[in-house]
Amino acid sequence: MAAPPPSRNAAASRPPTAAHRTSAADPAQSSENPAEQALGAPHQPHAGERHRILAVFAHPDDELGCIGSLRKHAERGDEVMLVWTTHGELASQFEGAADAYVRSVRQEHGAHIAELVGAEHHFFDFGDSRMTGSRAEALELAQLYARFRPDAVIAWSDDHPHPDHRMSAKIAFDAITLARIPKILAEGRSAPVPPHRKPVRFYQYPSAGSSYPVVHVDVSAQIEVVKQAFAFYQAFYQWPFSVAQFEGSLAARGREVGVPYAEAFQLRQRFPPALERLV
Ligand SMILES: [Zn+2]
Repeated sequence: MAAPPPSRNAAASRPPTAAHRTSAADPAQSSENPAEQALGAPHQPHAGERHRILAVFAHPDDELGCIGSLRKHAERGDEVMLVWTTHGELASQFEGAADAYVRSVRQEHGAHIAELVGAEHHFFDFGDSRMTGSRAEALELAQLYARFRPDAVIAWSDDHPHPDHRMSAKIAFDAITLARIPKILAEGRSAPVPPHRKPVRFYQYPSAGSSYPVVHVDVSAQIEVVKQAFAFYQAFYQWPFSVAQFEGSLAARGREVGVPYAEAFQLRQRFPPALERLV
């Protein structure tokens, strides 16, 4: 158990704001299809414009596939939030440990990673391996969307074997629509939050079964933070794969697009973002 001490102060190590924007996951997108308008961002963000990036996962450690991208956005001054829909209280590594203890450890893990990334974080308590992807779950997340007002959301793929992974991706997607509808946000609330109607780009971990376009984010400058995050969990859970192997997986993604290290996502839109020109 050589993991570094977790901290509850997620804001303490927020990275300095970059003076100019970098080339993170920010493809320009346009669509003639009204059904896609809630998902695209049909404008070119101008220099200095700040964004809000929300990552929604089921369990602490699910976020390891997007640490570099989140950190990159935090470094440029964007607001980043990590959300977990459960406490991961059924993790088999804890064997017979009391539920409350496991929850507290996993909450501390989440807080530590959020601090490393420079993100806010939030836990829902939909129950490890008990998620149903219900409207009620999506509505709770939609209330958070309406408050945080994300420009982009990152989630699991739709076909991962773990049901919580699939259900967390489902509600992450459904909440985009629910957060747009004032009467839904007002259900049972005396002071409802205004709807979040700006387009939200929906990114998912890649899946061989999905035909949505794959996009890469160059995380070469963030690779040390990515390795730190992986090493934190690897040391605690004694995972059988090494930091070097994990680093290798990002290097392999990087080779796909000619950069040292990259993270990859699928963008839920039919077509990849338009190129500025052919060459
Ligand atoms: Zn998980």
